[in-house]
Amino acid sequence: MTTSARVPRPTCEWQVCGVCNYDCSYCIQKKPTRVGFPSESEVDAFLAFFPTLPGKWEVKMTGGEPFAFGAFLGRIVPGLVADTPHTLSVLTNLSASDEALDRFAQLTRGRLGVVSASLHLEHTSVEAFAEKAARFRDRIDPAATFVVNSVVVPGRLDGVEAAREVLARHDLRLFPQIMKVGKGVVDYDPPDARRVLRLVGDRPSPRQANMAPSYKGLLCHAGAKYFVLTQRGDGYACRSARRVGQGYLGNVFAGNFALAPGPLPCSFDICPCTVPANRGMIEGVDVPAMAEEVE
Ligand code: SF4
Ligand code: SF4
Repeated sequence: MTTSARVPRPTCEWQVCGVCNYDCSYCIQKKPTRVGFPSESEVDAFLAFFPTLPGKWEVKMTGGEPFAFGAFLGRIVPGLVADTPHTLSVLTNLSASDEALDRFAQLTRGRLGVVSASLHLEHTSVEAFAEKAARFRDRIDPAATFVVNSVVVPGRLDGVEAAREVLARHDLRLFPQIMKVGKGVVDYDPPDARRVLRLVGDRPSPRQANMAPSYKGLLCHAGAKYFVLTQRGDGYACRSARRVGQGYLGNVFAGNFALAPGPLPCSFDICPCTVPANRGMIEGVDVPAMAEEVE
């Protein structure tokens, strides 16, 4: 596979809300924390904050489930489209109604980056999901990228393997996500590990599958050109930094958020999220030239 230049593409991963309408047993967010959403005045503060980011960013919105929070479609998406130059991306379980998904597709026409649709087999059938996903894919901005993810749960690989076949019939490619636990990734037993390798390929790039690689010691632009933002307005350089209480960038509501001045060597054992690598944040790690993929 060819690679493209490592030019960092400024990206914010924003946890729009904590609330989710699903309750997946393997969710990385513990149930007591999978709650809440910003108040009206906090939504105002977020909408005032995003236009202050320098230049054009990708705002990747996650949850919980963004569509489970009424203000997401009611105020946030229209506000970001109207008042910022940023590209919008979303991670969703695709449980929203077709009407809501159509509205999102209309609002984001010409401004959409990546739609990551997560298949959760504890809550939906692959057939119903595939039909809905294909319909939504055909309605979004044609320049946007549509991907399907699914967590590879130990002992339940049959479902993921079967889902891949069904999705392929709808011209949808499945990107398996290695299951995360605590500060790392799950240990698969040897038979499962072999099947996981077959699912993700022997040497998956950061865009092909989330294998939680280590970039320790490499210069990384996280904090300067990439950050994560919580529903409570707190900014952190990256997920690993947040987990250990480092890389705090300030709070949007308090008005003291500030980007880091430049790149720093990574000090973490794993990089659990594909987004920094896929957006060219890590010096020395090439970004595959193929279309945008797993998030
Ligand atoms: S849909 Fe996502 S956020 Fe919601 S419970 Fe499942 S894994 Fe967690
Ligand atoms: S964990 Fe990843 S995003 Fe965070 S500093 Fe290291 S390389 Fe950058």
